[in-house]
Amino acid sequence: MDVKAEIIKNLLYLKEIGLTSIPASEVIKRLLQREISLEEDSLLALKEKVIHCENCSLHRVRKAVVWGDGPTEPGGLMIISEYPDRDEDFYGKPFVKEVGNLLDRMLNAINLKRELFFITHTVKCKPPGGRPPEPEEIEACRPYLLKQIKYLRPKLILALGFTPPKVLLERKTLTLVRGKVFTLKETSLFFTYHPGYILKNPGIKRVVWEDLQRFRKLYEKIFLSS
Ligand code: SF4
Repeated sequence: MDVKAEIIKNLLYLKEIGLTSIPASEVIKRLLQREISLEEDSLLALKEKVIHCENCSLHRVRKAVVWGDGPTEPGGLMIISEYPDRDEDFYGKPFVKEVGNLLDRMLNAINLKRELFFITHTVKCKPPGGRPPEPEEIEACRPYLLKQIKYLRPKLILALGFTPPKVLLERKTLTLVRGKVFTLKETSLFFTYHPGYILKNPGIKRVVWEDLQRFRKLYEKIFLSS
């Protein structure tokens, strides 16, 4: 366990619930204050904020905020999906059960594993009744995704589904961007269909397979050629 991270997490929590002083010497207080202000600008602090977020109406109907899962070292791979489904909302994790199994198979088919990716959603809470998120819900959650990207500085993002292009490419539709490479500062972006959509529309499997081949080539160019 990372003891320092745990202490800071607890202190941030106390601060959030309104505790403005703690019984400690001035030297310790100054040290803690310095650490906290540094950590407030970190992925860990962002996570604390997101998992308690009530910035849009979805907080009233969610079981869990799905923050994300995977390695957090900067400069790696990231998957950005749409929004939690019922199972993800229940487990608090992205890509579980049947949809998760299909994602694993898609990645295995191009010799990659989900453990290589930090996986998150564009919108972190499940909309009710299986509906897609409303524009104002996407907008409310947008800063969290952009900050995750800022801290993780991924070299390559695989974006799945109809919601990510709305946030990452200024409302462009998936049909316009699918299978193409885009650049966001130092990050390459690649878009294709979401596994949940493929399960409902098996006719698009060939198109997705071709997209995955292109994604693999992009991965090799970025991570394996030097
Ligand atoms: Fe907050 Fe995003 Fe959840 Fe809305 S969807 S409550 S903005 S974390």
